[in-house]
Amino acid sequence: MGYELIWFKRDLRWQDHAALARASRLGPVRCIYVAEPGLWLQPDAALQHFEFVRESLHSLDAELRRQGGAVEVHVGEMPEVLDRLWQAAPFARLHAHEETGNGWTYARDLRVHAWCRAHGVAWHEYPQFGVVRRLPHRDHWLGAYEAHMAQAQETPGPLRFWRPAPGSASSSEWHGTALSVADLHAPPHLTHNPARRQKGGRELALATLHSFLHGRSLGYRGGMSSPLSAPDACSRLSPYLAWGCISMREVVQQTREHLAQLPGQATRHRAGLLAFLSRLYWHCHFIQKLESEPAIEWRNMHRGYDGLREDTFNPALFAALTEGRTGWPMVDACVAMLRDTGWLNFRMRAMLVSVAAYPLWLHWRPVGEWLARQFLDYEPGIHWSQLQMQSGTTGINATRVYNPIKQAQDHDPHGRFVRAWLPAMRRVPDEWLFEPWLMPPMVQDQLGLRVGSDIALPVVDLKEATKAAKQGLYERRYSAEVKAGKQAVVDKHASRKNWRMDGELKGKPRRSGPAAKAAKAVTSAAAKKQMGFDF
Ligand SMILES: Cc1cc2nc3c(=O)[nH]c(=O)nc-3n(C[C@H](O)[C@H](O)[C@H](O)COP(=O)(O)OP(=O)(O)OC[C@H]3O[C@@H](n4cnc5c(N)ncnc54)[C@H](O)[C@@H]3O)c2cc1C
Repeated sequence: MGYELIWFKRDLRWQDHAALARASRLGPVRCIYVAEPGLWLQPDAALQHFEFVRESLHSLDAELRRQGGAVEVHVGEMPEVLDRLWQAAPFARLHAHEETGNGWTYARDLRVHAWCRAHGVAWHEYPQFGVVRRLPHRDHWLGAYEAHMAQAQETPGPLRFWRPAPGSASSSEWHGTALSVADLHAPPHLTHNPARRQKGGRELALATLHSFLHGRSLGYRGGMSSPLSAPDACSRLSPYLAWGCISMREVVQQTREHLAQLPGQATRHRAGLLAFLSRLYWHCHFIQKLESEPAIEWRNMHRGYDGLREDTFNPALFAALTEGRTGWPMVDACVAMLRDTGWLNFRMRAMLVSVAAYPLWLHWRPVGEWLARQFLDYEPGIHWSQLQMQSGTTGINATRVYNPIKQAQDHDPHGRFVRAWLPAMRRVPDEWLFEPWLMPPMVQDQLGLRVGSDIALPVVDLKEATKAAKQGLYERRYSAEVKAGKQAVVDKHASRKNWRMDGELKGKPRRSGPAAKAAKAVTSAAAKKQMGFDF
């Protein structure tokens, strides 16, 4: 009786898709994606996310069409869409992956549960990451993560697709109100679509993983921190993981297999892949925090930090940050790159948040909303945990205050990055590269450049503002209230340190041979273009 309804959300793939695989064993399947206007109105939603989803849906639809089906795209709030589908042709069960999303998706899922209860429909939800719903204690998490990553992939066999009876009401649903992927237009209120962002779709996800495993990972450890080398050296898998074009388990398993096949002397390559595996583990570790405590999207993880920055928010400083005119070239160049590409490496993301949280003394929530729209790979669980961690409100992490001048000296010593993204900096001599505001007026005249108009002046005195910020934070940190609340945060959220990524493997760096050749091949311009990024 009926059919199995598969609801695609941030899992836009066919392979290793538990909802599709399990449902297909029960009966004919009907695959839907629902473009929910309420979701796309949220302050963390951006046009670039929507476009990436659209591209990924095209890729998923093409695959399902090869198998004789399709993905139907419906527009509307989920309970209304369920109503429409149900009235036209009742379904047996609803299947979807568990989602650790924002407060809006949490509330929407409660409404979907209520709808299912009212209609006597079972809703089956399946984990897609190493994230555990209703985790009893953090001590149990690592085992669950490992078990998930070790399990066989949930790849469906040949699919049987549901078809409406010709002439039935559901048949008009299929051809009429059910939209094709091509009909899905971006609602007009969404802003920002970077010119050079990565493009969505399963094929690009696989090409990106392949080029990383077979070559680019050789430069991972040495290249991940500088914004000059990171675009190539990092895996660039984040948007594909965030929107589910590839599963985390596929990435972990392929990486482990690749590691096992590396020759003994490939130590550099091995070190890169081990470091990468540790980031994959962090992905789930961070999402687990939001899963276990959804409120950290809005409120401090450690409540002892409440009131620290809420009442002092300075809109002019926030505008300077978001418009890339703080006056610190490294910060402003990062904002320019982010606006153009939708991506920044970890170190530069951390620096942006640190500058926002300390010298600019901005609360993490508006900064996080802005960055969520800038990051193509916006993943709520990682994002809000990192925002709080870099702003010093978790109560369990060391305070990290990144000095943007030192970051430039360390990661862009010759100014290639800042000059690439800030055209005015091209005229600034090396001597004043890190602190252009110190250029004497006579030199500015000779260069035809004015600090304060062509190049922004620092919006605050970095040294003084950072000192005041640290003082404000430390006063809280060492207060009796904060000390007393720390253990509860540790129990709930801290990582348990005894985790190992893989066996220890020994050998010497490989400078020639097939691995080095592969590395060269995949960093070529053509390979980068194929992966959908060219910077
Ligand atoms: C303030 C801030 C906000 C962030 N917001 C996001 C976000 O919304 N979405 C997101 O995917 N990452 C986020 N990160 C983490 C990290 O910066 C990105 O995952 C990484 O830069 C993506 O590029 P990549 O895929 O090439 O990373 P790689 O270095 O190749 O790492 C591979 C994968 O591991 C995971 N990962 C890497 N670093 C981290 C980390 N520090 N914490 C958790 N998981 C990690 C990601 O899934 C990433 O795709 C944030 C970091 C900071 C400091």
